[in-house]
Amino acid sequence: MQDVAYGSAPSITPTATASLRLPSGSTLFCDFDGPIADVSDRYYHTYCLALKATQADYARQQIALPIRRLTKAQFWYMKQNRVPDTTIADWSGLSGQQVNDFLSHVPPLVNQPTLLHQDQLQPGVRTALTCLRDRGVRIVIVTLRQAAQVLDFLHQYELATMISQIYGADNIETAYKNRTEHKIAHLREAIIDQNHLGFDTSHSWMVGDTEADVCAGQAFSLPTLALTCGIRSSLYLKGFSPTGVFHDLSAAVKYLIPQEASLHVTN
Ligand SMILES: [Mg+2]
Repeated sequence: MQDVAYGSAPSITPTATASLRLPSGSTLFCDFDGPIADVSDRYYHTYCLALKATQADYARQQIALPIRRLTKAQFWYMKQNRVPDTTIADWSGLSGQQVNDFLSHVPPLVNQPTLLHQDQLQPGVRTALTCLRDRGVRIVIVTLRQAAQVLDFLHQYELATMISQIYGADNIETAYKNRTEHKIAHLREAIIDQNHLGFDTSHSWMVGDTEADVCAGQAFSLPTLALTCGIRSSLYLKGFSPTGVFHDLSAAVKYLIPQEASLHVTN
C-alpha cells in the first residue's frame, strides 16, 4: 500500500522489494477482461452490429437513420474515458427512442459465441503468468465473466494450469455492466475461500483494468495495480488512487517481481 509507482520502478533493492511485494506462496488476485483477455474487438463489433440492427429495424418502417459509425479508435477512446453508451449512440447519429433501441441490442449481442471468439490473449500474458508461477505465486482470477467462459479461453491458449482458481459471475450479462459492488462481492468470496483453504492473503495484490477492480481491492485493504491496456484510460484510473498504474500485466509483474529478485530466488 505504501508504494506508488505510476509506470516507473521505485529505488529500493530488488530482493527487498520482492519480499515486500509478492513473496513466494502469496496470492495475486487478477481480473480477466483487460489484464488477460483483449475484448476490444468484441466490444467494437458488438457496437457495429447493434447499430446495424437498429438501422434495419427503422428501415422496415421506411425510416432511414443518419448513422455515423465511429472508427474502432474513436469507439475505444470513448469507452476508455467512460463516455456513456447513450453518448456513443448520440455521436453515432441516433437520437431519442433510437438510442434506447440501439442499447437494447447490445446485451444479447455481446455474449454471442461468434463474438466471444474475437477475444484475444493480451501480449506478454503467457510470460507474465509463467514468471508468477515460477516464483511460487498463486494466481486467482476474480472476474465478472462466467467462469466457464474464462476456462474455455484459458484452455484455448493452454494456460488453464497456470491458474489456481477462478471466481466468476453466475449471470452472463454481469461482465458488460461491470458493477463495482459485484466485483467487491466476488473478491470477498475469493479472499474468504482462500483463507479457509489455508492460503495467506496478507501479501496479496489486486490487478485489474477498471475502477471496479481498484475499489474492490481497496475495500479489503489490498494494494492495487491498475492496467491501461483494457477498457479505461490512465487518467481515469489514476482518479481512483490505485497503488500503481502500468500498461499491462507484463509490466505489472516486472514491478511485483523484479528480474534480479526472481533470479535470486530461483538460484
Ligand atoms: Mg476488466
